[in-house]
Amino acid sequence: MRIVIFGPPGSGKGTYATILKNRLDIPHISTGDLVRDEIRHKTSIGKAIEEYSNSGKLVPDDIITAILEKRIRTTLQKGFILEGYPRSIEQAKQLDKMTRIDLVINLDVPDHVIVDRLSSRIQCKKCGAIYNERTMKPRLLGRCDKCSGELFKRVDDQPGVILERLKIYKETSAPVVDYYRTRGVLKDFRNEDPDSSPEVVVDRIMKLI
Ligand code: AMP
Repeated sequence: MRIVIFGPPGSGKGTYATILKNRLDIPHISTGDLVRDEIRHKTSIGKAIEEYSNSGKLVPDDIITAILEKRIRTTLQKGFILEGYPRSIEQAKQLDKMTRIDLVINLDVPDHVIVDRLSSRIQCKKCGAIYNERTMKPRLLGRCDKCSGELFKRVDDQPGVILERLKIYKETSAPVVDYYRTRGVLKDFRNEDPDSSPEVVVDRIMKLI
């Protein structure tokens, strides 16, 4: 299956996709993780996009689309759970050129939950696992439960940058919902209880698949 998990920053896309990937046994592609990998490895692409990513701005379409295209090619047989792309109508059109999408899950989360979540989010440098300093703490302070990697706070999870990312989401990314709705592949998912465990939320998401 070729699934897109769509939603604003902090809606839980990465967390849910990580669990879904194991349940469905298909790869998880996160363009945000691909961007951070390029930056961490100081590649020429990484150097060119670092400033965009750190300030919460979207990386230019041609660059992000090229990064995704390279990765998605390796998963076309098996299917995938894609997260972080598309973030604009233009990108949705680009994705249509790369492959067919079977299902788009639209995560609908109120703004105050997003700001609250992102400002306490921490992530593993090594495996990308996501934690929360308040609601999903690691067993050992600063260390990943899964791989013992070092946990860090993303530079774009600072309050000012979070607001910028939300603004860009509303202006540029939200219209993508209608793009897929009119094509009949979109299903809405509203999580009424923001503190429910990710496993429980994914149980409910699975019913849409
Ligand atoms: P994320 O982890 O999905 O929040 O992505 C982190 C950052 O990577 C974003 O703020 C953008 O700078 C960049 N990025 C990830 N995906 C895209 C995309 N589809 N289009 C443009 N920029 C992206």
